[in-house]
Amino acid sequence: MKIAVAKGDGIGSEIMDAVLKIFVANKVPLEYEFVEMGKWVFDKGFSNGMTPEAKETIEKLGALFKGPMETPKGKGVKSINVTARKTWNTYANERRFQSLHGVETVFSKAGIPIDVTVVRENIEDTYGGIEHMLTHDVALSRRFITRPGSLQVIRYAFEIAKTKKAKRITCGHKANIMKITDGLFLECFYEVAKEYPMLKADDVIVDDLCMKLVTRPDTFDVVVLTNLQGDIVSDLCAGLVGGLGFAPSANIGDHISIFEAVHGTAPDIAGKNIANPTALLLSGLSMLRHVGLTENAAVIENALLYTLESGIHTGDFGDKTRPPVNTTQFAEAIISNFGKQPKMNAREVEPNMPGTPAPFKLEKNPMMISKELVNEKIVGVDLFIESDEQPEEIAKKCLRYAGAKFQLINISNRGTQVWPTGSVYTNLVNQCNVRFESQDSQEVTQQDVIGLYLGLSANFKICSIELLNMWGDKRGYSLAQGQ
Ligand code: NAD
Repeated sequence: MKIAVAKGDGIGSEIMDAVLKIFVANKVPLEYEFVEMGKWVFDKGFSNGMTPEAKETIEKLGALFKGPMETPKGKGVKSINVTARKTWNTYANERRFQSLHGVETVFSKAGIPIDVTVVRENIEDTYGGIEHMLTHDVALSRRFITRPGSLQVIRYAFEIAKTKKAKRITCGHKANIMKITDGLFLECFYEVAKEYPMLKADDVIVDDLCMKLVTRPDTFDVVVLTNLQGDIVSDLCAGLVGGLGFAPSANIGDHISIFEAVHGTAPDIAGKNIANPTALLLSGLSMLRHVGLTENAAVIENALLYTLESGIHTGDFGDKTRPPVNTTQFAEAIISNFGKQPKMNAREVEPNMPGTPAPFKLEKNPMMISKELVNEKIVGVDLFIESDEQPEEIAKKCLRYAGAKFQLINISNRGTQVWPTGSVYTNLVNQCNVRFESQDSQEVTQQDVIGLYLGLSANFKICSIELLNMWGDKRGYSLAQGQ
């Protein structure tokens, strides 16, 4: 079986060499095809940070083991890490955070064991990076949460919980504020939960979740979140178990999966052979399990745990009274401990059942679509206009264009209603949302909306527009604060 390997930038080649040395010593039945990705590939003029040959190899092999990579600053290029995850639809980012014997934390000292798996949606949310300046003062980021995307990652999280024999699966969210986007994610969570009656499924608002994770992390098992919240919560969990040096991650897709450490290129220690390879090794072990090499994964993990228990450490952690070893020596210590059993969390050695990382080849882009059960209709429009006038003045101008089909419902500024009622204590910026709804919630057409747009554009610069949709009697848009 073959996998693609990209060593990465900074400490990437040092830690990747250490991990591959461990794999070779353990006779892991894998072949490695090295591909060109990273900062130096950007510098050679490839705007997505990888060569066309690298892309082709990864798509053919289906598994990429990668070191950290640097995105050049200020060149207008997008992060190669984010591009890779999105292009290949690795929709679930899975990170398992466990207490490691030998890695001292406040929780290990208090005798509180941690074993939390965070599954983060990996493609949508603000990570679409769809951003615009609407006026000189106002920036807008579009946050996409989709039903098929949410179902895909949530279903994966439930499968993980089942395999892990988890006691609990929790959805972290902010649906109390973002009722439509996070509300959709939460709705999908409980929809999938019905298929897993044996698992206790619950939800916690993300700020409360953060507080509970730092006070009682042992009460959580599997947590699933949208992309940005998941990003923050997973780094918080990394801190609970000893920091970034111990945080592995797997980016799982149906066709291609990417395995990498959570940490970056650590430029401050690059080239010194002192980096901690544990996070990359743990990511590599989840890759071995992903392709069915469970026996190799368990033997190596037990050797790693034994090594940590025996107090061997790189400079970034461990007992400071004992001298640290370097990256190569740490890898050699693990190799010398193959076959040894750690006192805590020893992994059961199950025979390998090798599969193939790329089970099928795609000819077309898969379309993910869910069935609409009720009729959709347009009942109005939000027009985001540039103006530094008072709400009353704006309303007077807008009322002229409402015509027979529309009525001016309200004007809001930064999401707070300022007309027909509001407060003079609400500070304004030079962009506001003018909401028109149809008379008696009658259906209107796109042409009706364009007519309104044309009229209003005589008075204002229209920066952006959103249709107001209804599905049956369900409103597909939020109300302004105070509406
Ligand atoms: P970083 O994770 O590289 O470093 C933060 C701190 O942690 C540094 O002090 C570093 O020395 C230490 N550290 C990180 N990994 C370590 C290890 N294995 N052993 C010992 N110490 C370790 O974060 P940063 O400095 O914010 O980012 C540096 C670069 O990495 C940036 O260009 C960033 O874009 C990139 N980055 C890449 C990835 C990725 O490839 N997935 C992830 C994060 C950051």
